[in-house]
Amino acid sequence: THFGFKEVPAADKEKLVGKVFTSVAGKYDLMNDLMSGGVHRLWKRHFVAASGIREGQRVLDLAGGTGDIAQLLMPRLGESGHVIIGDINQAMLEVGQDRMIDAGFFGRFEIQQMNAEALPLEDNSIDAVTMAFGLRNVTDKQQALNEMYRVLKPGGKALVLEFSQVNNSLLKQLYQFYSFKILPEIGHWVTNDRDSYQYLVESIEQHPNQETLQQMFEQAGLEMCGYENLSAGIVAIHTGYKL
Ligand code: SAM
Repeated sequence: THFGFKEVPAADKEKLVGKVFTSVAGKYDLMNDLMSGGVHRLWKRHFVAASGIREGQRVLDLAGGTGDIAQLLMPRLGESGHVIIGDINQAMLEVGQDRMIDAGFFGRFEIQQMNAEALPLEDNSIDAVTMAFGLRNVTDKQQALNEMYRVLKPGGKALVLEFSQVNNSLLKQLYQFYSFKILPEIGHWVTNDRDSYQYLVESIEQHPNQETLQQMFEQAGLEMCGYENLSAGIVAIHTGYKL
């Protein structure tokens, strides 16, 4: 009902997501700053600061594309920690790799192309999985959560930062107007690609809300699940443990 978007069929979604991120890879960060007024940086910083991730851990940053989260994680992980940046899109991974090397993290991370729905990693091999602004792009989200559970060690933690449901009705109306009417125009202006940003907005609209996503965490076998709303629920951090 909201501004009449239509659902993308699952079969086409993976292709579309590939095209979107290949098209925006180089300008991805600039767009994030413009679209969120820089607030995405604060959300990401809080996500990592509140993660409980510690020195020496082995972390998988899924949909890690540009390396944003990995860069924030490195100081917490110390010399003995390790990050695997996993993303389905090679163009995004290359941006992330360059950034991580420029930031001085050569040798302390690896990049690996992977689909969140079928992780090329062993069972019980990871201390924490992070996924920031990635889950909504995955076709089978439940399968991605099941995979997180599988690769986590017992005691390991899954953390998802994602757009969610705004819990204030006035703010919600403003936000939807901004998303559907203004954001694709900014996208068109900066990247000459209105459709990609139209897709991003629609993927946010279709994403499960807080309660539904928490149930999906539980369905995956994760325990002690909870969430924290940021900016009135524009985004939420979901967490759960493999016990
Ligand atoms: N985590 C980064 C951040 O917060 O800035 C990048 C987020 S970006 C919006 C979403 C990323 O998800 C893209 O790099 C895209 O290639 C990746 N992605 C989409 N579908 C995926 C899948 N099925 N498996 C792994 N990564 C996927």
